[in-house]
Amino acid sequence: MKTEQQECSCAMEQKIKEEFATRFGGEGTFYASAGRINLIGEHTDYNGGFVFPGAIDKVIEAEIRPNGTDRCRVYSVDINETAEFGLAEEDAPAQQWARYIFGVCREVIKRGFEVKGFDAVFAGNVPLGAGLSSSAALESCFAFAMNDLYNDNKIDKFELARIGQSTEHNYCGVNCGIMDQFASVFGKKDCLMRLDCRSMEFEYFPFKLDGYKLVLVDSRVKHELVDSPYNKRRQSCERVAAKLGIETLRDADMDDLDRIKDEISEEDYKRAEYVIGEKQRVLDVCDALERGDYATVGERMYQTHAGMSKLYEVSCEELDYLNDLAKECGVTGSRIMGGGFGGCTINLVKDDFYDPFVSVVIKKFHEKYGHDPKIYPVIISDGARRL
Ligand code: ADP
Ligand code: MG
Repeated sequence: MKTEQQECSCAMEQKIKEEFATRFGGEGTFYASAGRINLIGEHTDYNGGFVFPGAIDKVIEAEIRPNGTDRCRVYSVDINETAEFGLAEEDAPAQQWARYIFGVCREVIKRGFEVKGFDAVFAGNVPLGAGLSSSAALESCFAFAMNDLYNDNKIDKFELARIGQSTEHNYCGVNCGIMDQFASVFGKKDCLMRLDCRSMEFEYFPFKLDGYKLVLVDSRVKHELVDSPYNKRRQSCERVAAKLGIETLRDADMDDLDRIKDEISEEDYKRAEYVIGEKQRVLDVCDALERGDYATVGERMYQTHAGMSKLYEVSCEELDYLNDLAKECGVTGSRIMGGGFGGCTINLVKDDFYDPFVSVVIKKFHEKYGHDPKIYPVIISDGARRL
């Protein structure tokens, strides 16, 4: 029997096929890449710590065929728009969605590799702007395809991730880290990846989830932030690291922090306490997974939430409420996923608790805030690939 996700993916492929045949005639090659979750390790990347992402069963799929010209014609099924562009820097398309694809082509070319004109149709089921990185899925899908179609797969996978990241920086105005594109490119079924953001080394950890489910609850709120709280958090971390004479908080432990307690502000102390704790929590979760100890995994997730809420102060009322509801419903682990101030919580839930949790969370959240949260069950799946 097919899962709901597979059904959905088949329908998507069918739709892409039809559109491709109608618009361009014949058929091309299918590629896909995935959105991602991060189980634990938040605000650690710029502190030289660890993140622990995995690709999910929500994807962007594209059918692509070289067209023998120097122009690209791309149709987006979900937006129902076509974009046409050349491959020189001045050919940037007007549509935002097409700039992700154009940017990928440009970044491939800038690195001395080849891209030529193509026709493409693409669609996706990664929710947009929900924190699951639909943009990284789109970039990775096309980066993988350009590598496969024109470059005999000579571009290594890390470079494919960097191509996506540079696309965000240079063509979409988003100054992101590498995690999203890394996860989308390297993702592997039933595995999370611990990425060391200092050395860029990574390791796969099996994440089979027997008897558990992973589900995201999207609060659908995003609080407008006035005074660049992210920059302020970064500055706090940098000040403490400088005081300790180290490059990043990766190299600090709580003893170090306590030694300089009187020399730093109470606020900086709290920020650093969170970061130092979070580094260890990622390591703890990896150890626990190797033992199949989901209780500890969940405990650390709750600790991360508490740290983000009370020490790093990047939570908000709605996310704290979602976390409280998870606790009340006996959810094994729950925390904010992403930078904070809105967006999703990620929840590790025992199978038997799943349905009651989802109905309680929808009902109670609606009662309090007047709208339903969105529920996204996810399965850890493969990243960029040819289908
Ligand atoms: P996210 O957190 O999902 O990555 P972003 O704002 O970074 O949110 O990226 C979303 C953008 O990516 C969309 O506005 C659109 O331009 C592009 N995008 C993502 N998925 C699709 C899709 N299925 N079809 C067209 N464009 C898409
Ligand atoms: Mg994005």
